[in-house]
Amino acid sequence: MDLARLTMDQIKGFTCALCGTRLYADRPLGTFTATEGLCTEPTELWACAPTCSALPPR
Ligand SMILES: [Zn+2]
Repeated sequence: MDLARLTMDQIKGFTCALCGTRLYADRPLGTFTATEGLCTEPTELWACAPTCSALPPR
């Protein structure tokens, strides 16, 4: 997971880190740390629960 490619909403857990859908039920993906850029602190990411039901945005 490359934090530099995620949106701020995804990093903050407002939207799914995998597909970008706004989260209503979520599951933890684990903690990720970027080696460069704005998000060099360990960041916990979230995704749709139980699985992503929407296709990734184009
Ligand atoms: Zn998702």
